Amino acid sequence: MADGTGAPPRTADVGIAGGIITEIGQKLARGRREVDADGALVTPGFVDIHTHYDGQASWDERLLPSAWHGVTTVVMGNCGVGFAPATSGHRQRLIDLMEGIEDIPGTALHAGLSWDWETFDDYLGALTARPHDIDFATQVPHAALRVHVMGERALAGEPATPEDVAEMAALTRAGVEAGALGFSTSRTLNHRSVTGELTPTYDAGVAELTGIAAELGAAGQGVLQIVADFLDVEADMEVILAMARASGRPLSVSLVQFPVRPLAYREVLAGLDAANKAGLAVRAQVAARAIGLLMGLQCTLHPFMTNPVWQSISGLPAAEQALRMRDPAFKAAVLEAQTGEKNRNLIGGRLINKYELMYELTDPPRYEPDPADSIAARAARNGRAGIDLAYDIVAAEGGQGALYVVSGNYVSGDLSVVREMLVHDWTLPGLSDGGAHVGTICDASFPTTLLAHWARDRADGRLPVEFVVQRQARDTARAVGLADRGVLATGYRADVNVIDFARLGLRQPEMRFDLPGGGRRLLQRADGYLHTFVQGEETYAEGEPTGALTGRLVRGAQPAPA
Ligand SMILES: [Zn+2]
Repeated sequence: MADGTGAPPRTADVGIAGGIITEIGQKLARGRREVDADGALVTPGFVDIHTHYDGQASWDERLLPSAWHGVTTVVMGNCGVGFAPATSGHRQRLIDLMEGIEDIPGTALHAGLSWDWETFDDYLGALTARPHDIDFATQVPHAALRVHVMGERALAGEPATPEDVAEMAALTRAGVEAGALGFSTSRTLNHRSVTGELTPTYDAGVAELTGIAAELGAAGQGVLQIVADFLDVEADMEVILAMARASGRPLSVSLVQFPVRPLAYREVLAGLDAANKAGLAVRAQVAARAIGLLMGLQCTLHPFMTNPVWQSISGLPAAEQALRMRDPAFKAAVLEAQTGEKNRNLIGGRLINKYELMYELTDPPRYEPDPADSIAARAARNGRAGIDLAYDIVAAEGGQGALYVVSGNYVSGDLSVVREMLVHDWTLPGLSDGGAHVGTICDASFPTTLLAHWARDRADGRLPVEFVVQRQARDTARAVGLADRGVLATGYRADVNVIDFARLGLRQPEMRFDLPGGGRRLLQRADGYLHTFVQGEETYAEGEPTGALTGRLVRGAQPAPA
């Protein structure tokens, strides 16, 4: 058992009653139900603090794919996007933002969202209407808040007036007092609505951000979450530190190594060291893998999406596209017409022709591929062009073939930067974006990568299993104020994984068309999670749902057991 505290693994029995861990020790008295975990790895349920299930939680009792990866609590409402507060006139705007920023099909959001709420409190009420497979918690999203308070002025990127700021601050406080864990905002150029406009929070001024942050400070509760580009580390750090100072509340910010400024992440890490030394609780959320993209005929992106010849078959189902693509004359025409044009409006759209960053997606997937296996390198060895090989791969398997493109965190051609970030004092595992980017990624599997890749498979620089469990359970839970979980000890929540550690692994992501209205999403399963318990009830056995739905909306910070 790795108990979440970072203590070396030990053998022990775990006693559970009433949804709480009642006892840990040797040879406990027999219980109503016993699970033989001999030889298995027992961990606290994982806590994923960076997801986007804001829509899904309102229509689906299952928060997949996270629930397949040992995750028993998710925090949503990240990056400033969400669906409350919202009056009826702004619903379309919020859907456009979620579709553009998080790549969740607008048709699915239209079909799935019931919109039987206006205030944040109403929204929480709607979320509690159905039981779920895992616990979930919300944050007040800045973009929704800004549009709610400022209307068209928010979308036009206008600065907030002092009255706007006061109203946003009051609504944020009301949201947190109703049960949100905090407030989130976005300052990244990557975040655009489906019609191409920058997210309404991009230009929010420091006075606006500190005004809202200060209100959380006055309330004495809530955390802050930010996504920033760090194109100008100093400027972004200044804003972040101003928010931390104004609020005195814990803050976390996304951190990725971007190829344009490959060493900027070290400046950010140094900034975190200095901030924490100065008494500010500022952390970076970091990824367990490269920030990559999946490309294929059914995905949002692929190398031929802007190709005029290929576009003649763009309306066909993938299987028929694949059939047409087997025609050598069609292939020749596509390759001839390929201009290398990018798709600038979509996140990752600049990468669709980057064959040196592209790999064939294998089964099981390899998330730390050797640059010698890139599409460009493989093609060159056979005297072909990268596009030629990429074409054959996406057209294979009836149009199900896929490419894995690595962009962030992979400048060195391996995951050494990820390791450096993961072991830093002031970082947390995050950025899985569970429930979002459903046509381009499936990073809700980060917790499985953390365990299987980092604590078992990686030959060089393997991390102790107790360390990664502590980070993904206790540390993430505490960072958002949930001190009642993430540890296997008496009095803590009985959220528990029983894992066949030797067999733990990821399957290939696959496209499903099971969102409301038939919308598509990439899902990815794992092997090796023998049993997952939420509040003491087994919710998944070997990845199959047991029928128990003991997950609930978590309202507000939770104290540690006495
Ligand atoms: Zn996000």
